[in-house]
Amino acid sequence: TPPRPAAPSRHPLDILREVFGYDSFRGQQAAIVEHVTAGGDALVLMPTGGGKSLCYQIPAIARHRGGRGVTVVVSPLIALMHDQVGALEEVGVHAAFLNSTLSLEEAQRVEREMMGGRLTLLYAAPERVTTPRFLAQLDSLHQRGLLSLFAIDEAHCVSQWGHDFRAEYLALNVLHERYADVPRIALTATADEHTRADIIERLQLQDARVFISSFDRPNIRYTIVEKDNPRAQLLRFIRDEHEDEAGIVYCQSRRKVEETAAWLTAEGIPALPYHAGLDAEVRQRHQDRFLREDGLVMVATIAFGMGIDKPDVRFVAHLDLPKNIESYYQETGRAGRDGLPAEAWMAYGLADVVNQRRMIDESPASDEFKRVQRGKLDALLALAETHECRRVRLLGYFGEASQPCGNCDNCLHPPATWDATEAARKLLSCIYRFQQHGAHVGPRAFGAGHLIDVLRGKRTEKVAQYQHEALSTFGIGADLSEAQWRSVLRQLVALGHVVAEGEYNTLRLTESARTVLRGEVRLQLREASEPARRGRTARSR
Ligand code: ADP
Ligand code: ZN
Repeated sequence: TPPRPAAPSRHPLDILREVFGYDSFRGQQAAIVEHVTAGGDALVLMPTGGGKSLCYQIPAIARHRGGRGVTVVVSPLIALMHDQVGALEEVGVHAAFLNSTLSLEEAQRVEREMMGGRLTLLYAAPERVTTPRFLAQLDSLHQRGLLSLFAIDEAHCVSQWGHDFRAEYLALNVLHERYADVPRIALTATADEHTRADIIERLQLQDARVFISSFDRPNIRYTIVEKDNPRAQLLRFIRDEHEDEAGIVYCQSRRKVEETAAWLTAEGIPALPYHAGLDAEVRQRHQDRFLREDGLVMVATIAFGMGIDKPDVRFVAHLDLPKNIESYYQETGRAGRDGLPAEAWMAYGLADVVNQRRMIDESPASDEFKRVQRGKLDALLALAETHECRRVRLLGYFGEASQPCGNCDNCLHPPATWDATEAARKLLSCIYRFQQHGAHVGPRAFGAGHLIDVLRGKRTEKVAQYQHEALSTFGIGADLSEAQWRSVLRQLVALGHVVAEGEYNTLRLTESARTVLRGEVRLQLREASEPARRGRTARSR
């Protein structure tokens, strides 16, 4: 007897309403769901919180006809699998996961449900999906027409250019090779053009339709200020604009997190610390308070944030530079989830650039990986130094063209720029002179403070010690303030003409400095934001 005809599939919109209880699709969800339900392949780029899960969950339900047909969801995050399966079961969708947290009996039960085709969604880690045993099970499902769909979440993990490459993802192309007729949907929240090309090539998604949602968060105002006295700047920012509002302050080190939280509290701004070094119980308590109470500031390392869904975070402040634009976007994206005005604020200085570069240099990673990381840091520095619209830069990084936004610091208060070519040449040649001069008498490289003293013609002890008043560059920069020189130097470091290295952050010229020294390029730089305050400018050693 021929098999019974499958029950007609339900309409996606009915599933959205009846199963999930939502009124309408958001953004591109409707188009994606329709395309995938009909059997097409898709690559979905959607920012975090955009609603990626429904893009495969609804097709999974629609293609689970007559109570049979399994969608396999590949996900690297065990916690996320757990949450999603719980939420699905709660709304009556039969789902399960297979991972190392299950006992043998539990795993066997899940496998039985899967092999009977009764599971609508099965979540599994990539390393499991590509084992011979699992593939044999998929073969059997496939032969019986019970394999409905593959969803590959966090698809950027297949790319070395992505920020969390996982070698197991490379083996996932087997899904296409073995089951070419089963549709696939790959999803990610972070994919610049390079990563996107890698995903398409490595997962063999050449025939997939690409759905790119806008990454724009128009209600977030971006502001990046020069670090002067960061604590005082942060305090002013919170007091002037975000009194009694909830916010997150990101710092790089645990110690700085603790100190900043204590200091804010002492200044009358209720703040809690959060970092991986705190007891799990303390972390949980702080997180709960942050979610529940109004107007608390969470001072945290990047350990805080994954899966935090507090809609009314009014600001995210960075006291230290993130690693790259992906991190900056993700961290600042925790502000203003409710769509109301919110602010992303960052204080950034020369020491940040130096630190981040050093962390890359000193990491045990491969040279190739370091090269990628340096490139990503440079893109972030360009965002920090730009005098054009921040949002245009940010979206441009994700491959999205846009117009000046009118809602970032540079749009609201266009920074003055100046032709700094001559100043840059003076600074670079001073570094060059150190090198020449020191050849027989001592050190050949110095840090920022001494360099600026020499440029400005200050007769310090150190100047006397190394006879630097004899240099032709001594005092050639007396026309600029210390703050202005710092600003020029920071931009030259950001542009890659100068590197600061070693224990004392001594300065060295790079190859590209030659083009500036020879006058082959002109440099239009941002003016130092507060040149009048030269006396107060903090010095890094
Ligand atoms: P992502 O995986 O892209 O970060 P999620 O799939 O977790 O995002 O969705 C983020 C939130 O938005 C979830 O709480 C989800 O239930 C909700 N959501 C998604 N789509 C819709 C919709 N069409 N209507 C209302 N809420 C939605
Ligand atoms: Zn702008």
